[in-house]
Amino acid sequence: YRDTRREFFANISHELRTPITYLEGYAKVVKNRLYTTEEEKDRYLDIIYQEGVRIQHLVDDLFELAKMEEGKVSLSMEWVDLKDVVNQAVQKVSLKAKEKGLELIVHFSEDIPLIRADGKRMEQIILNLLENAIRYTENGHIDVHLHCTSSTLSLSIKDTGIGIPEDELPYIFDRFYRIEKSRSRTTGGTGLGLSIVKKLVELQGGSIEVSSTRDIGTCFTVQFVLPTMQEE
Ligand code: ATP
Ligand code: MG
Repeated sequence: YRDTRREFFANISHELRTPITYLEGYAKVVKNRLYTTEEEKDRYLDIIYQEGVRIQHLVDDLFELAKMEEGKVSLSMEWVDLKDVVNQAVQKVSLKAKEKGLELIVHFSEDIPLIRADGKRMEQIILNLLENAIRYTENGHIDVHLHCTSSTLSLSIKDTGIGIPEDELPYIFDRFYRIEKSRSRTTGGTGLGLSIVKKLVELQGGSIEVSSTRDIGTCFTVQFVLPTMQEE
C-alpha cells in the first residue's frame, strides 16, 4: 500500500512538473523577447496554452480518481438509452476522427433495452474509449457495436490502430500506465483515462475487457448484465 501510494505521488509530481517546466521555459523566452519573428512568438504562446490545457485535464482526472477512491462519487441513476449516448459521443469526436481521415461506424442491434445507469458517466466512458481509438489509430476505421442478448448488453469499440503488445495488456487500466511514455508526450496522454473508465464501469455494475493485436488493432468491450424478468 505504501509503495503504490508513494509511486502514485511520484507519478503525479512527475506529470505536473513536466508541463510546468514547459510553461516556465516558454513564458521566460517570450518575456525576455528571445524570439526573432512574431510566428515564433505565437508558437511559444501556443505551447504555453496547450500545456495549460494539459494541466487542467490532469487536475480534473486526478480529482475524479480521488473522489472515486474515497467512494465519494454519487451516480445519478436514470433509465438510459445507450443508442442516444453512443450517438452523442460519436458526434462529439467526429471532427477529430475526420481530421485524421478515420471513418467512424456505428452498429446497433435491434431492440436495445434501456438500462439503469448514469447517463453522463456512460458518455464519459464512451468518449474516453473513442478518444483513445482515434488517438492510437493512423488509418482505417473505428467500429462501435451495441449488441444485446437476453441477459447482457455489450458495447464494443474497435479500431484498426497500432494495437497494444500482449505483455502490456494487463497494465493498461493502471493509473498513469501508458505504452512508450516518450511518444505520448506529443499525443498528450497522461495514462489516467482507462483507469477512470474501468472504475466508472464497475461502479455501475459492469465489466470491461480488452483484446488487441499489435499493428492490427484494439477492441474494448464493456458489458452490463441485464436484470432478469423475475427481478423486474
Ligand atoms: P489519457 O489520460 O489522456 O487518456 P492515455 O490515453 O495515454 O492518456 P489511457 O487512456 O489510460 O491513457 O490509456 C493507457 C495506454 O494504453 C495509452 O497510453 C496507450 O498506450 C494504450 N492504449 C489505450 N487505448 C488504446 C488503443 N485503442 N490502441 C492502442 N493503444 C491504446
Ligand atoms: Mg486515453
